[in-house]
Amino acid sequence: MSWFLAETMEVWYLLFIIFSFCQQTIKTNVIGTLNMLGLAKRVGARILLTSTSEVYGDPLVHPQDETYWGNVNPIGVRSCYDEGKRVAETLMFDYHRQHGIEIRIARIFNTYGPRMNIDDGRVVSNFIAQAIRDEPLTVQLPGTQTRSFCYVSDMVDGLIRLMEGENTGPINIGNPGEFTMLELAETVKEMINPEVKIITVENTPDDPRQRKPDITKAKELLGWEPKVKLRDGLPLMEDDFRKRIGIPRK
Ligand code: UDP
Repeated sequence: MSWFLAETMEVWYLLFIIFSFCQQTIKTNVIGTLNMLGLAKRVGARILLTSTSEVYGDPLVHPQDETYWGNVNPIGVRSCYDEGKRVAETLMFDYHRQHGIEIRIARIFNTYGPRMNIDDGRVVSNFIAQAIRDEPLTVQLPGTQTRSFCYVSDMVDGLIRLMEGENTGPINIGNPGEFTMLELAETVKEMINPEVKIITVENTPDDPRQRKPDITKAKELLGWEPKVKLRDGLPLMEDDFRKRIGIPRK
């Protein structure tokens, strides 16, 4: 009985943690955006929403352009983020139409680079940290899911151009170079630690199966396209991670 209670309490505690993270995520996206829009209205500022490719959910259109409305599960474990950002975009356009606020919306695709939180759980930071620490690279199943990774300096350049230009967006900012997670793991292994193992682990529900930005709009309206290829960006991130983890190259 006490075992049952302990187990049950553990489950409830975990659910509580997940639920509170989700509540914080949705509160930040909805109440945070409302607060910032109120401030922008009061002081007459131009405001940028860093939205996300997650608004496309598990996309049925590939690559994704900005006219696609997405395929999002509204009650899933990821929906606090996906739907939160979708509501944030709605709020931006409502304030723009009703109060004439100057808005800019970027839909950011997966971004990586130096100074990223080492243990934040995202795939590029996980694989690089694991390769440096000689730990197996954890490919979440099935491993055939794809992402397109944009180096941070390209992302910042795109955001500045959007903010300084005349278009509200939404505009996709991302690198169209698309990789499966198995390909990413193989690349990290080859470039950082050829001895490291690659293992498969369980995934979370509703993981998008494919993701790649159509950046026609960014090219035409912002004169922007990414310059840094994945194979050039990974070593720059590796240098930074090695310094912070404290394991130099052999
Ligand atoms: N992923 C993985 N191993 C990890 C972390 C993530 O294979 O250690 C996969 C995850 O299942 C997803 C992809 O990498 O398919 C990108 O995950 P991430 O959390 O970096 O970004 P997002 O899912 O938000 O695009």
